[in-house]
Amino acid sequence: RAFVEIDNVAMRYGGVEGTLALEGCSMNVAEGEFVAVVGPSGCGKSTLMRLVSGLWPATDGNVVVAGREVDEPLSLVGMAFQNPTLLPWRRILDNVMLPLEVVPAHRARLRRERVAYEQKALDLLKLVGLEGFGAKYPYQLSGGMQQRTSLCRALIHEPPLLMLDEPFSALDVFTREDLWDVLQQVWMARKPTVILVTHDLREAAYLADRVLVMSSRPGRIIAERKVPFPRPRT
Ligand code: ADP
Ligand code: ADP
Repeated sequence: RAFVEIDNVAMRYGGVEGTLALEGCSMNVAEGEFVAVVGPSGCGKSTLMRLVSGLWPATDGNVVVAGREVDEPLSLVGMAFQNPTLLPWRRILDNVMLPLEVVPAHRARLRRERVAYEQKALDLLKLVGLEGFGAKYPYQLSGGMQQRTSLCRALIHEPPLLMLDEPFSALDVFTREDLWDVLQQVWMARKPTVILVTHDLREAAYLADRVLVMSSRPGRIIAERKVPFPRPRT
């Protein structure tokens, strides 16, 4: 059954005269499915991600996640966006651990199991090639390293839904392909539902079960392709 259901959604920014970013936009994502969303820049991909994550309310239509209408920022989501938005006054390790402090279910466990959670954060940092950087501050890291930190932050609380919006855009091609493998490992281990926005068709084909294509003005899903081959590497 669908874990994410987007039904005939419209999104207009800034009142009746504002930009109509999405209209008649529908898609379903099954539980445990890995879907990529591709489309020209400005077509509304990020807007769609914000609606599903509950960061903006839709102007019209329904967004349902795990059987519930989305009406506030979701705590079952892990998010990594193009802009890593790390808190500059926190060390890298503490940035990664942020969702554990925000999500109520984790907060109590964090108090009891701080050391175990810190170890988990360090393991994630190692997995993305940032071993030894936990005690640094964001300004001490390159853009690509900050982006990798934000991927760790999206994974630390093992959310059932991962919303990834160009999460590898600041990475060189080699690091990027290493991170594909990291993400694929995470997905195969826990089978979260994943929605990945990307410009990179190779990335979409490598990672996703299904690729959804968006049109612009107004943005909506106009085509879908099952990824038709055994994946290049697994
Ligand atoms: P994409 O992620 O595909 O590049 P976006 O969702 O960022 O597309 O943008 C879709 C449209 O909505 C664009 O025309 C963009 O200018 C507009 N838009 C995005 N965010 C805002 C905002 N906060 N306020 C007003 N318009 C916006
Ligand atoms: P990225 O590809 O992540 O943007 P850069 O091209 O800036 O990174 O740097 C390549 C590598 O150099 C990084 O993966 C890291 O190992 C090292 N590096 C970059 N910035 C720093 C830093 N501030 N401190 C220590 N090592 C760094």
